[in-house]
Amino acid sequence: MLNIVLFGPPGAGKGTQSENLIAKYKLVHLSTGDIFRANIKGGTELGNLAKSYIDKGQLVPDEVTIRLLESEVNKNPSAGGFIFDGFPRTSAQAEALDSFLDSKGQSITVMLSLEVPEEELKRRLLERGKTSGRADDADPNVIQKRIDVYNAETTPVKAYYQQQNKCSEIHGVGSIDEIFSRLSSAIDAAAVK
Ligand code: ADP
Repeated sequence: MLNIVLFGPPGAGKGTQSENLIAKYKLVHLSTGDIFRANIKGGTELGNLAKSYIDKGQLVPDEVTIRLLESEVNKNPSAGGFIFDGFPRTSAQAEALDSFLDSKGQSITVMLSLEVPEEELKRRLLERGKTSGRADDADPNVIQKRIDVYNAETTPVKAYYQQQNKCSEIHGVGSIDEIFSRLSSAIDAAAVK
């Protein structure tokens, strides 16, 4: 099993790179952001709850997000591995993911941390907001809030994986292909360990 955490701030390119990585490594892509957005579109109870947080740039509560992630993993019993995109986003989520995988005799292989300067993130998100239809990309105040929440609540997740010697920092500026090849090299190095 190859289980990858793709980590990085909003706008770092996690979604774009996930698409390439799942094709190359035959993994199941689990993006909590995508799942929330699908639920918002479908008008489900979960979607309505998630929307009330997402529109403000806040995180959806851990309890809800962890339960959702576990049920999505359980829906894919024959997966050869997963790419976790946008999860874990808090220390509590990282701990919950480890114990959940452990209960299945599995673990995280590597955590890839996409490093992108804040000014570049804001530029990318505003650009994406012109076409994505995502309300959380259209408003500079919401973008700033997401970056602030990332700095306060999500950056500790990096230290969590560094302590396990599983964090690989990837320079996230350059062409999509260049970044993809940096990610692939880091995965290949981790997979043979
Ligand atoms: P981005 O990385 O561009 O911020 P995502 O699509 O990953 O976008 O997430 C969009 C929003 O969904 C987040 O701002 C947050 O409100 C919510 N969300 C996604 N994943 C999580 C998570 N693991 N925990 C809590 N909230 C989440």
